[in-house]
Amino acid sequence: EVRVRFAPSPTGVLHIGGVRTALYNYLFAKKHGGKFILRIEDTDQARFVEGAEQYIKDSLAWCGIQIDEGTDQGGEYAPYKQSERKDLYKQYAQQMIDEGTAYYAFDSAEELDEMRETLKAAKANSLNYNSITRNTMKNSLTLSAEEVQQRLDSGDPYVIRIKVPAKEDIRLNDMIRGWVNVHTSTMDDKVLMKSDGMPTYHLANVVDDYLMKITHVIRGEEWLPSAPLHVLLYRYLGWEASMPQFAHLPLLLKPDGNGKLSKRDAAKHGFPIFPMEWKITEEDASLKGFKEEGYLSEAFVNFLALLGWNPGTENEIFTLDELIESFTIERVSKAGAKFDIDKAIWFNQQYIRKMSASDLGAFLLEQTNAAGIACNDQKAQDIAELLQERIDFIPELLSKGKYFFEAPAEYVEKVVRKKWDENAKSVFHTFTTQIEGKQLNADNFQKALEQAVETHETKVGMVMQILRVAITGEAGGPDLMKIMEVLGTNEVSERIKKATK
Ligand code: GLU
Repeated sequence: EVRVRFAPSPTGVLHIGGVRTALYNYLFAKKHGGKFILRIEDTDQARFVEGAEQYIKDSLAWCGIQIDEGTDQGGEYAPYKQSERKDLYKQYAQQMIDEGTAYYAFDSAEELDEMRETLKAAKANSLNYNSITRNTMKNSLTLSAEEVQQRLDSGDPYVIRIKVPAKEDIRLNDMIRGWVNVHTSTMDDKVLMKSDGMPTYHLANVVDDYLMKITHVIRGEEWLPSAPLHVLLYRYLGWEASMPQFAHLPLLLKPDGNGKLSKRDAAKHGFPIFPMEWKITEEDASLKGFKEEGYLSEAFVNFLALLGWNPGTENEIFTLDELIESFTIERVSKAGAKFDIDKAIWFNQQYIRKMSASDLGAFLLEQTNAAGIACNDQKAQDIAELLQERIDFIPELLSKGKYFFEAPAEYVEKVVRKKWDENAKSVFHTFTTQIEGKQLNADNFQKALEQAVETHETKVGMVMQILRVAITGEAGGPDLMKIMEVLGTNEVSERIKKATK
């Protein structure tokens, strides 16, 4: 059975890249009839942010990503929150100490700083605690067994580090990137247990993936450098045979392709890169979310799925079920994906166009109700139908359709105003007298207008735009006859009179 996990750390707002990781995991799991697990990786107490976990769950729910096992759902391998699994990690760290694949290190912060300084002066690369330097540091590989015991007994602070072999190639076959080879001489003896008794990400992540029987680890590219270390952990713990397959997803790039997409880009360019608004910390109070910006979750998910994955067909519109059906890891690209907000808007447009007029009308009715504007089902639906092709976001039904509810306060284009000459005025006069008090549809309005222009020996084309401006205030928009049908004859003639006064 395929078992994947989304393993966020509740350290703040969930970036669009994180949601994409969750989505790809979900699509992959469902495609193979497997399970999607949510595991909260909260071992870094210093970076813990209250409310972040709920935000993550709300975001996944908004996207329609259903969790099979997790902190709220429970499951066979509970608990799904790392801070509640502390004892497990200790046990495996102890096993590694006993087997000589990990060791205690007692170096103080000052001693570590000093080592880094020395390395810097020697222009060594960024590695510090590794198979070479560990021989000069205070750890259970250099101290006598008695001294180690003494230090442990007297409660000296320590960490537990992995003992990386000095000269070996670590190989792993990434599902997206192919074979990755890393020589252990370029690897640090990473800390597995911190001095506060908490595991690091590396240990906790591997232990949990093993215990939770994870079959595929699908995560962001930023974790690729950690993967060889994880492979080594599987080996040291004797779990190599059940090691999951890895798939490291490409980065999300800035719109111009220059570097990683960041919170700054969103702030600077005024577009959302978070699924929902984030109001938990004061600093982030203004972070915009796709949800609040008016994106439909289906459109957002469709957009997100194609940010790094290529369906291999011309079609770009996929429901969640269709995505599940079409998704394959093989079609995830190695190259970073440029974030393009115009594409997100395009998707939203497409989804609005797919909606039924009654669904769209229901949205408009919600808006008019909230704004205290009188409307009804039929009117809302008629307006929705007329504006469906003309809006990018649902809230625009009301903002772009304002003239359906009130006469224009001003008229666009002074040019048009000048054209309200005597001839046009007489056409409109004839027109209003003809329609007043009647119940007309779009065709009837058209006929009435044709008759009126005929009477004054002019053409429909000569008065059409002026008429539109008189009624809507605007130079463009949906079929004017249909707009008039929605407004009704009384409102139409009142507006014409007001405009030509
Ligand atoms: N806790 C890690 C994160 O926040 C999980 C990385 C992984 O999936 O291994 O991204």
